[in-house]
Amino acid sequence: LARREGADEVVVLTPKATERMRLLRHVEEMLPQAIAQGELFLQYEPKLQLRDRRIIGAEALVRWHSPTLGIISPGLFIPVIERLGLIGTLTPWVLDRALAGLRTLRDRGHREIVVAVNVSGSDLKNGLVHAVTTALDRHGIPPQALEIEITETAIIQDLSDAAQVMRSLRDLGVHVAIDDFGTGHASLTYLRTFPVDSIKIDRLFVQSVDVSSVDQAIVSSVIALGSALGLMVVAEGVETESQRDKLSRLGCLHGQGYLFTRSLSLDQFEEMLKGRETGNGRRET
Ligand code: C2E
Ligand code: MG
Ligand code: MG
Ligand code: MG
Repeated sequence: LARREGADEVVVLTPKATERMRLLRHVEEMLPQAIAQGELFLQYEPKLQLRDRRIIGAEALVRWHSPTLGIISPGLFIPVIERLGLIGTLTPWVLDRALAGLRTLRDRGHREIVVAVNVSGSDLKNGLVHAVTTALDRHGIPPQALEIEITETAIIQDLSDAAQVMRSLRDLGVHVAIDDFGTGHASLTYLRTFPVDSIKIDRLFVQSVDVSSVDQAIVSSVIALGSALGLMVVAEGVETESQRDKLSRLGCLHGQGYLFTRSLSLDQFEEMLKGRETGNGRRET
């Protein structure tokens, strides 16, 4: 199966609009059965300390292995799921699988790992807090070991629901992260009213951080803001040693990205954890 090393490979959309329409229609037709038939699966992207590459957690990323189309990225099918009104099925499934995975890791002694789950804008209206408590209880996971990532864009689109859900999650003890920070064109003042634990600097600002003084200025100010507010700051999409080095020097303590590894199956992630713990800091690319 292509899952092992191919899970970051995605279906490439041809520029032809008709092709794209056909693909989307196919996705729309096949998706409802896909969950039931076990075609969705999670990959894990490690979250590390930039200075010493110690792994502190992993972000769960959903993929769809379609028998006809191959492995499809969430960027393509999540919008379709939202349009079909199926997000209320997907998110509880992702939470359940991610926490089952975390249960396995904890049972094998990896008790410090935090797992992050992405949610959509429409989750903010529909029972997210209930889905979270259900999954935590089912797998006996302490709330502090779960992080929920909400994109800046989703927050802006629905400020009052977002504020309420984020507050409830934090009251439970679940960590809340703002994903894709800097891309939603939000006013920074919303950080005053939104209870969050961490912000994830979007890849857009990371990709040229080692060469662009503008991006350095932006990243520095996000780090300054984050630390003044007591938030964890995570850089997304770190691809090169030069970016890692620059981010570290700017005071960014945490990151994820292809420099460290492509996303992994749960077993591969555990192998990586074991490698680190025995001091065998093996790099996987
Ligand atoms: P995201 O949460 O911002 O996730 C980061 C995306 O960047 C992932 O793409 C990841 O594979 C990719 N990435 C990580 N490191 C690098 C790097 O160094 N370079 C580059 N070029 N890319 C990198 P992916 O898995 O295709 O996910 C896309 C988006 O789909 C995610 O963005 C997230 O917003 C959404 N998503 C993923 N899983 C779920 C889910 O279970 N539920 C919901 N609602 N959304 C999800
Ligand atoms: Mg994310
Ligand atoms: Mg992101
Ligand atoms: Mg992103």
